Amino acid sequence: MAEREHVRVAVIGSGFGGLGAAVRLRREGVTDFVVLERADSVGGTWRDNSYPGCACDVPSHLYSFSFAPNPDWPRTFSGQEHIRAYLEHVTDVFHLRPHIRFDSEVKMMTWDDEKLRWEIETSSGSLSADVVVSATGPLSDPKVPDVPGLDSFPGKVFHSARWDHDYDLRGKRVAMVGTGASAIQIVPAIQPEVGRLTLFQRTPPWVMPRVDRAISGAERALHRTLPFTAQARRGLLWGLRELQVQAFTKHPNELGFVEQLAKRNMMRAIKDPALRAKLTPDYRIGCKRILLSSTYYPALARPNVDVVASGLSEIRGSAVVAADGSGAEVDAIIFGTGFHVTDMPIAERVVGAEGRTLAEVWKGGMESLRGASAAGFPNWMTIIGPNTGLGNSSMILMIESQLNYMADFVRQLDVLGGRAALDARPGAVAAWNLRVQERMKRTVWNTGGCTSWYLDPSGRNTTIWPGTTTEFRRATRQVDLAEYDLLRAPAEQKAEVDA
Ligand SMILES: Cc1cc2nc3c(=O)[nH]c(=O)nc-3n(C[C@H](O)[C@H](O)[C@H](O)COP(=O)(O)OP(=O)(O)OC[C@H]3O[C@@H](n4cnc5c(N)ncnc54)[C@H](O)[C@@H]3O)c2cc1C
Repeated sequence: MAEREHVRVAVIGSGFGGLGAAVRLRREGVTDFVVLERADSVGGTWRDNSYPGCACDVPSHLYSFSFAPNPDWPRTFSGQEHIRAYLEHVTDVFHLRPHIRFDSEVKMMTWDDEKLRWEIETSSGSLSADVVVSATGPLSDPKVPDVPGLDSFPGKVFHSARWDHDYDLRGKRVAMVGTGASAIQIVPAIQPEVGRLTLFQRTPPWVMPRVDRAISGAERALHRTLPFTAQARRGLLWGLRELQVQAFTKHPNELGFVEQLAKRNMMRAIKDPALRAKLTPDYRIGCKRILLSSTYYPALARPNVDVVASGLSEIRGSAVVAADGSGAEVDAIIFGTGFHVTDMPIAERVVGAEGRTLAEVWKGGMESLRGASAAGFPNWMTIIGPNTGLGNSSMILMIESQLNYMADFVRQLDVLGGRAALDARPGAVAAWNLRVQERMKRTVWNTGGCTSWYLDPSGRNTTIWPGTTTEFRRATRQVDLAEYDLLRAPAEQKAEVDA
């Protein structure tokens, strides 16, 4: 029988996280690795979200890899197609394609504590790996609410992250469900062409103006010829966001003046007092993600838009009905209802040392050591794991910190030599989470008076990092071996005893 393929490292996912991990592994001199991707191209978020108006909401010069600057970003907040093209470019420039296995969905990963390795089943075959780096993304599996009557709705239904470009929205009666980051980009993009737009809003977001503009040819040429100018730009964007962190994490009351700016943004576009009342949040700004748009409110003020300030509760034939009884007949329903975040689907597919899945271990809430390792899951780490999300800055900063940690993890295993594995100590995981949750108590995400996707069903914030990106960078610079149990293959343990 043919030997099953074995690699040093298996990376899952080819978004910013997985591609970043691949670049970093190559830089560390590790070439024996694969990237397993369920889709047929790279890009993750930026491949799957192609809805009209899709763009980043952190400026492009910060929302990109520090090791792969792009002097040619076309706009301050570049669109999806440009971010996707950037990730394709990174894949080519760093020669990652030979490592990537497309159409390879990871179905199950099981820890083998005899051989100290992961056995991985994918839709395209099986393999084993010493180390697994799970970069399956925090916002990669769309969540559609279980609305009574949805199955028998006769019209078109899709999620914002799975946009149906073959469906012509022109002149249609459309229900948009949700008012999160995707919905506020979609609404102004489709409002001019649809016949009627009914927006179902459970909670109004705080929306600040978005200062988006084309980056001039002169600026681009400057960044190309004098790369330090692009670095300085990135540094400034980063520094300004870093200075805001204290207000989010320690002094939420200081955010009051930002609320005034957001209110003014709404007042400028919305003249109808009844609509203003519907759109005015009753919680502290920052508690939910602050959204950026200069076109959302003007679109809502157009005569072909209705805002239903109540969640969608039922579908009767082609009528969408809100909890308050209001509703409309529609041809299409678009769900902008977010993703499985605190219930990451990949967690059901990882079976650790004690035969339990990560989902079982995390059923009381996600927990890890330094956002990466989980106790009982040796040599397994996640990129953008628990409590690594940001409310106000670029996730690429956090991903790059985690890549430092991953690189050191692999280095430490090399130094240990032989068949070795590192398993996070339960005490170290508990201590880390205690610190994180202690700091969380004062943050705007926990005290701002809202519910959000940052919180799990028990109300615990298991998604956001309650500090600066600098603090996280420091905390993930190196693996502290005292926080891990060293596992040795039984055969090697015996050899050591015999020696
Ligand atoms: C519309 C949108 C806009 C955003 N804008 C910003 C922004 O402006 N700034 C910011 O900081 N963040 C933003 N984010 C957050 C964004 O998700 C992260 O910044 C980043 O792109 C995450 O990268 P990732 O590689 O971790 O995950 P993803 O990009 O989601 O990639 C995960 C990959 O894993 C693959 N995968 C998943 N499960 C499996 C499996 N079982 N087997 C094989 N492959 C699998 C997926 O197909 C996907 O390719 C945005 C998110 C969305 C949805």
